[in-house]
Amino acid sequence: MININENLCDFCGTCVSVCPVDCIELFEAKLKINNEKCIACNLCVDICPLGVLEVEDEE
Ligand code: SF4
Ligand code: SF4
Repeated sequence: MININENLCDFCGTCVSVCPVDCIELFEAKLKINNEKCIACNLCVDICPLGVLEVEDEE
C-alpha cells in the first residue's frame, strides 16, 4: 500500500492525474488513496515533487 505523509503534501494534484487506475482522490486539504484499487505501479511515488508518497511493503 501507499503511505501518505500529509504534513509534506501541498495538494498540487499531480499524483492524481498520473494514477492509471484513478484511485487517488484529492479533497481540499486531504489526499486519499484507495489501496484496494491500487496496482502498486509507483507512478505517483515517482512523480510527487515533495516525496509525500512512499510504498509500504505488505507482509
Ligand atoms: S503529487 Fe505529492 S504534493 Fe502533489 S498532491 Fe500528490 S502527494 Fe501531494
Ligand atoms: S501506485 Fe500507481 S495505482 Fe497506486 S495510487 Fe500510485 S499511481 Fe495509483
